[in-house]
Amino acid sequence: MDCLFCKISRGELPSIKVYEDDTVYAFKDINPIAPVHILIIPKEHISKLEDITPENSGVISHIFEVAAKLAKDMGLENGFRVVSNCGEDAGQTVFHIHFHLLAGRKLGWECQ
Ligand code: 5GP
Ligand code: ZN
Repeated sequence: MDCLFCKISRGELPSIKVYEDDTVYAFKDINPIAPVHILIIPKEHISKLEDITPENSGVISHIFEVAAKLAKDMGLENGFRVVSNCGEDAGQTVFHIHFHLLAGRKLGWECQ
């Protein structure tokens, strides 16, 4: 499939990996908006939040376990944010579902 994040998770395009297991891949955002800006994605292609179903939601809950582990491992005791943009108004630009893990500065509600 011609999907940027599928290719990144398969190692066919370069990325700075911060975590990987059988079902999840996490890497540094190429254009960070905070000192910590990591993208956490399922290896399985799911386009967007609206496409989460009872059949594929297991990997989504696992993504939140990974987010908690990364926050703990990185010592983000001042706090962090996990956000997924869904659709045009939210500014989704890559249609392989991803969760931004943001930290390292005070985050306004609008994020930027
Ligand atoms: P969205 O706007 O869809 O919520 O987020 C897409 C994110 O992917 C953006 O923050 C953007 O900087 C990031 N991004 C886009 N292309 C690449 C890429 O090729 N590599 C990496 N590491 N991040 C990317
Ligand atoms: Zn994909």
